[in-house]
This record gives sequence, C-alpha cells and structure tokens, in this order.
Amino acid sequence: MHLSHVGTNKICFLLSLAFCALLVLLIPSLQPPQRQADLPLPRPRAKPAGRRHDLYGNPGQGSHEAKDGSVVHPLPPGGRPWDPHTMLDGDAAHASSPGSRSKDSLDLRDIFIAVKTTRKYHKSRLQLLSQTWVSKAKEQTFIFTDGEDKELRQKAGLNIINTNCSAAHTRQALCCKMSVEYDKFIESQKKWFCHVDDDNYVILPSLLELLSSYSHTQDVYLGRPSLDHPIEAAERVKSDGSVSVKFWFATGGAGFCISRGLALKMSPWASLGNFITTAEKIRLPDDCTVGYIIEALLEVPLTHTGLFHSHLENLQRLPTDNILKQVTLSYGGFENRRNVVSVGGVFSLAEDPSRFKSVHCLLYPDTEWCPRKTRH
Ligand code: UDP
Ligand code: MN
Repeated sequence: MHLSHVGTNKICFLLSLAFCALLVLLIPSLQPPQRQADLPLPRPRAKPAGRRHDLYGNPGQGSHEAKDGSVVHPLPPGGRPWDPHTMLDGDAAHASSPGSRSKDSLDLRDIFIAVKTTRKYHKSRLQLLSQTWVSKAKEQTFIFTDGEDKELRQKAGLNIINTNCSAAHTRQALCCKMSVEYDKFIESQKKWFCHVDDDNYVILPSLLELLSSYSHTQDVYLGRPSLDHPIEAAERVKSDGSVSVKFWFATGGAGFCISRGLALKMSPWASLGNFITTAEKIRLPDDCTVGYIIEALLEVPLTHTGLFHSHLENLQRLPTDNILKQVTLSYGGFENRRNVVSVGGVFSLAEDPSRFKSVHCLLYPDTEWCPRKTRH
C-alpha cells in the first residue's frame, strides 16, 4: 500500500492526539488515593514512625493485664485516628531535623495553656507549678481559679484569671471555668488551646514538638481518652433526647489540646456561656462536654495520644527513660500508695513527692534550685 507523505503526517498527528488523550485519562488513576479530608494529618517528620503502642503506651496488639490488675486494651476499634508519633520509646515523637519543620514553625507563644485550679489548691498545687514548668511559659499560661489571692498574683507574676465561678467541685462550677477558658482563648488569638489541671506537669518541648506536627487551621482535638470505649449520652442538643450518641472525649485530668480552627467551629455551643448550656443539656462534666461538641456535634474525631497522662493510670509503669518525652504528667494517691512517675537521682520522694521538681531539673538542669549534680 502506498501512503503519501502528507497521509503519513496525518496518521502520525492522529496517533499523537490519541496518545495525549490516553495520558489525560490515565493521570487521575496514577495519583495516590486521597485521604479522608476530615482527619487531621500530621506534617511529615524526619524519621519514620516506629512501633505503635496501644492506648496506654504499651507495645503490641492484644489486651493484657496491667501491674495494677486492670485490663489494658489494644487500639480502640472503629479506625479512630491515632497520633502516629505517640509512642513511649519516643523515637519519632522527638525526631526533628532542620529540614523537617515547615517554615512557619510553631513557637511556644502560639500556645494558650489554661490551668484549672481552685482557691484551696493555690498553695499546695499551684506553687509547685509556678516554681516549675509554668515559670518557663509565663506569658502563655493562664490560671483559671475561683478566688482572689493577691500574694499569688504579685509574687509569681502569673496570669491569673478569677472566673468568679463557684468553688464547688460540681459539674456547673467546672463547666463555668471551662467556659471562661474557652472565651479567653478565642480572645487571645493564639493558635492552640491546651487545657490542663493543676496536678499536671507540662513538658513544654514535647508539647511544642507534638503540636508542630499539625496545623492549627485543621480540625485537631488531641488527648487521651479516659475510657477504652466511647461514652454514650442522650442527644438533647440536636434532638429531644430520645436517641443517644456515642463519642470519645479526652480526659481533662491528662490535659488536651484543640486547634484554633476547630475551636472557632465550637463557638455556637461553647462561647459566651453557651458551654454551660450545652453541658446542662447533656448533664455531663466539662471534659465530656468538650468531646460531645467536637465528636458528636461537629463530627471531628478525637486524635488519641498516649503522651498525655493523668493519675487515673498507673504512672509507675512509664519507663524512666521515656518520661521526658511525654507531653503531660501527673501525680496522685499520696494517701495510700504513691502514684507518681519513676524518676530517680535528683530529689528524694520525701523532698519531691510529686516528682515534678525532679522532672524539672532533668529538663532544665541550670535552674538555680536544682542540685549541682544535674547542672551542666
Ligand atoms: N477543682 C476545682 N474545684 C474544686 C475541686 C477541684 O476547680 O472544687 C479542680 C482542681 O484544681 C483540678 C481539677 O479540678 O484542676 C481536678 O481536681 P482533682 O485533681 O482534685 O480531682 P480529680 O478529678 O483529678 O480526682
Ligand atoms: Mn487530679
């Protein structure tokens, strides 16, 4: 068959057109699958994540019995998001190289830290905090209390907010404080809201590292669930209470953090006293109400992390060499058996029953009241 020169060119032209069309059709299928849009995605880290740990920081899959006899369960069911850097060996949690941070890297001043306290704990609990971690984050830490204390305000130079909420340990009083915490955070223009109790030690470098791996403009709710299953409550906000909703919440006693992007979305149920109304409707405590607003109303899942600790767990089980890699610590149970983290070599248990001073000296050895041996 004889083809003219012009005919050959035409065929070549048509063939290239067909090839281009095929390429255009193939491009979408060559791209990696899109991830679920509503899950907070941490920014990439320098080192790959290693082993995963369960809810309580234990490696492995199945349930097992903890030292205190309670059953420790594996990862919560239902594909809940987990902070991929949450591991006790801390490898990935604290790996960073100059190239791993985005240009707008997070500064401690971008974090609003709310400490919930009450008048009767100003001496016994707050003084310890003001001597330790709060002294390293004075500008961005806000103490929410229920009574005037001139001495505390003047001496420590802390940001003290008298909520004028009742000093009772009731749901209403605690929700009143959370409501003020929320409003003050919104006012502050900071990027992250973190809430802790007055028996928490915040390891500031770890907190910064953890939050740096997320964007404050995403919907991020980070914390430790106190239960190994979601809580169930009658839905009395969107409906009449005849149906129930299941949701996870981060236990307030271990501390939790919320991105500004998400906090702004909570406004209809949380701002200017609405938090108290919401809590009253579902008749649940402050931390459960936060979980309810975020998980049940806004449908944003809690990102579970094992780096936050309350005295509801057995703190002695935290490996000593991982303690400084955690984000929050706590103490409890002085009355019976001490439930404190195992950190030795700085102060004795008698000198430092909470272990917070010892942790502080390991983190900041140059502090003037730290023993010489921990100093550089
Ligand atoms: N708290 C409060 N008002 C009270 C009692 C406690 O605001 O009447 C605060 C306290 O300062 C702490 C938190 O609530 O930040 C939890 O209190 P606590 O540690 O005594 O009890 P838990 O619930 O941890 O056993
Ligand atoms: Mn407590």
